[in-house]
Amino acid sequence: MNDRDRILALDRAHVWRPFTSLERHATGDDLVITGAEGAFVIDADGRRYFDATSAWWCQVLGYAHPRLVAALCAQAEMLPHVALAAATHAPAAELAAKLVEVAPKGDRRLSRVFYSDDGSTAVEVALKIAYQHAQQNAPSKGGAKRQRFLAFPGAYHGDTVGAMSVGAVDDFTSVFRPLLFRDRVRGADGTAPRTEAEWETLCARLEEHLATEGDTVCALVVEPLVQGANGMRFFGAELLRRLRDACDRAGVLLVSDEVFTGFGRTGTMWACEHAGVVPDLLCTAKGLSGGLLPFAATLATDAVYEGFRGGMGRAFLHGHTFTGNPLGCAVALEVLRIFEEERVLERVARRAEVLRAGFERLSRHAGVSNARGLGMVAAIDLGRGSYLEDDRGWKVHEAAKARGVLLRPLGDVIYAVPPLNVDEGELAWFLDALDASIADVS
Ligand SMILES: *Cc1c(COP(=O)(O)O)cnc(C)c1O
Repeated sequence: MNDRDRILALDRAHVWRPFTSLERHATGDDLVITGAEGAFVIDADGRRYFDATSAWWCQVLGYAHPRLVAALCAQAEMLPHVALAAATHAPAAELAAKLVEVAPKGDRRLSRVFYSDDGSTAVEVALKIAYQHAQQNAPSKGGAKRQRFLAFPGAYHGDTVGAMSVGAVDDFTSVFRPLLFRDRVRGADGTAPRTEAEWETLCARLEEHLATEGDTVCALVVEPLVQGANGMRFFGAELLRRLRDACDRAGVLLVSDEVFTGFGRTGTMWACEHAGVVPDLLCTAKGLSGGLLPFAATLATDAVYEGFRGGMGRAFLHGHTFTGNPLGCAVALEVLRIFEEERVLERVARRAEVLRAGFERLSRHAGVSNARGLGMVAAIDLGRGSYLEDDRGWKVHEAAKARGVLLRPLGDVIYAVPPLNVDEGELAWFLDALDASIADVS
């Protein structure tokens, strides 16, 4: 048995893969990856694949950026871990200061950083902070507390129970519905908007809810400008601005889940910057640690932080074993240095235009619609089937794999989120290969 077959046999016998049916695991998805660099992963037979998903959207600077690997190794030799509570360390302190420096700027200041492990925990932390903040500081008229969250239909904020509670209840999560605190969530049920008119209707409905029942709500949770897992669905910056204003009028905190959109994915450092909006809580993960290791942070304003003053009885009693892990902090610091020194954000505009134009070109194929893009996110629709049944996306996936491209569709949606610094020649090659793969299936 060669090494590839040995690994695959062990995997099929013992690994439980995420988001994968047991039948599919037993017979399909037979890639064994042994290396990765830039936009490419390399399999056990030495074949290279352009990873259009950037490993679930986290490779903002490409796989194995040498500076990030070096920062990780150096930190591992110096101090791989220590608990962050009774003591602090340079990477945690320096990264917090740096994140505050690059955070969205405007009418309020994100000045505090709470560390955790992944996007879901960054959201859990934001939900718990918003809720506790309201219980301690903002009892509404008549003594009824602000014990609800407002959220979007079609939202995705992670797979832990709290994060699922403020997300769409769909094929993936419906079995857990009785466990979710859904009675505490408004707005998230119903069909996710796709057209501009549908987004407008949703925004008006949320504004209305904030105006009439805002005093029962502690926070509005939003994926700013693009719902990623829902199929790369974009909405206008103006809507986010309106919701910021409506939250302020109602005394409701705005939680911006920038786990996907942060770190330049939409062309600016944070998606809410397109709208000139500063949230009260901002969640970041994925790109934060350059795709090297699990790491996350939740940023909070001065005002939110001050709401926890007053001894242990009012403190935020939450943490994780690896909160503020020095390896994650050191790598994130190096990501931010690379953004600055390699002028990643200034240089992304041209690549974004090439990516968007490449997806626009796919519209000429039969069955392709809604070509769209913002920054280094682009997508098309292939139809309107349900995620679990429609296999057109998977057919394109297989055709692309044969051409050396990894796609992994979101149901009927084909998308790409390449590294922000992807080589322009490789980007053009990928767009041609994608075009040919769709032609194969059409
Ligand atoms: C991926 C994602 C999450 C969850 O992050 P994990 O690291 O997978 O837990 C939360 N919110 C958004 C918007 C995401 O895209």
